[in-house]
Amino acid sequence: MRVSTGTCAALLTAFLAPALLAQSTNWRQHDPDRPHPPIVTPGAALGAPPSDAVVLFDGSSLNAWRGNKGTEPARWVMRDGYMEAAPGTGAIQTAEPLGDMQLHIEWAAPTPPAGRGQGRGNSGVIIMGLYEVQILDSYENTTYADGQAAAVYGQYPPLANASRPPGQWQTYEIIFRGPRWNTSGTLTRPARITVFHNGVLVQERVTLWGGTAWLRHAPYERHAAALPLVLQDHSNPVRFRNIWMRPLPDEPSATARAGEAKNARALTAAQLRAYVGVYRASDGDTCRIVPLRDGLGLAIFDRPDTMPLVTTADGAFTFRYTAGRVRFTAGAAGAPMRVDVIIAEQERSYARVP
Ligand code: MG
Repeated sequence: MRVSTGTCAALLTAFLAPALLAQSTNWRQHDPDRPHPPIVTPGAALGAPPSDAVVLFDGSSLNAWRGNKGTEPARWVMRDGYMEAAPGTGAIQTAEPLGDMQLHIEWAAPTPPAGRGQGRGNSGVIIMGLYEVQILDSYENTTYADGQAAAVYGQYPPLANASRPPGQWQTYEIIFRGPRWNTSGTLTRPARITVFHNGVLVQERVTLWGGTAWLRHAPYERHAAALPLVLQDHSNPVRFRNIWMRPLPDEPSATARAGEAKNARALTAAQLRAYVGVYRASDGDTCRIVPLRDGLGLAIFDRPDTMPLVTTADGAFTFRYTAGRVRFTAGAAGAPMRVDVIIAEQERSYARVP
């Protein structure tokens, strides 16, 4: 890397300091330094666990599950690749605590259907043992709206009743964000849930009022960031299969804004003027370097919009709101004769029009 020395000719030497711009959590568009997400191989079939999933039940064992107390083996029935709530044995819970997650779960209500209202095909996905997404046979079975299938029990009815008939496998895709407290115990973020029932959006990032409770109000009580997932025994032999989850990384900061690069150094009006002019590519495309209205900077004018430039170092520029490089090359007389413009995956060269 050539470092300019401050002479006029050196001002025009290509030079870039991307690290200068990469420290902000606010990103400019198309920044190549922005971290890439991990590669996840999706499941071979729809609903199959992707490569980074934690499989909680694949039909072969109840090893990931415990009984009601959390220490004894789960006593639900397992057969033919599914497990079935064994009425009276109590809820089961995961051996491992789980926090923010994407949860995939498949269930089927008993057939032929028995009972009515809350008594037909009742179970529940009780996240952290506190926040219940209701499981109920809600196919041609009416109950109170905030207690039907895919309701956040006692809080939010589903946006639609997407129930399949009893006996048929149904899916819940749940996105859960647990509550957070600060160190002094004040709730800083309530729990949020999004649910798709058989592919239909039924809960959209609803804000939970607190834990699930029956016939009482249960405001938040501080708890760990991860707790076991519970499947409810509500005395109905509801079946489950293909249960997996993916822990979720933290959400992007709510205060994130468009990134903006600042001038690494100020150029004098005379220095800025030296770049102003029309530059043309071999295919006739032009690039006009114009002064900003305030006279304190430059912009490229012939892009879809005027793109303000800021200096990254002597003689080199980037865009204020988009990652990229604008490099000027000096001719023999020391004046800029060529400009290379690099944005995202495109690079173009323009020669100065005399
Ligand atoms: Mg229930």
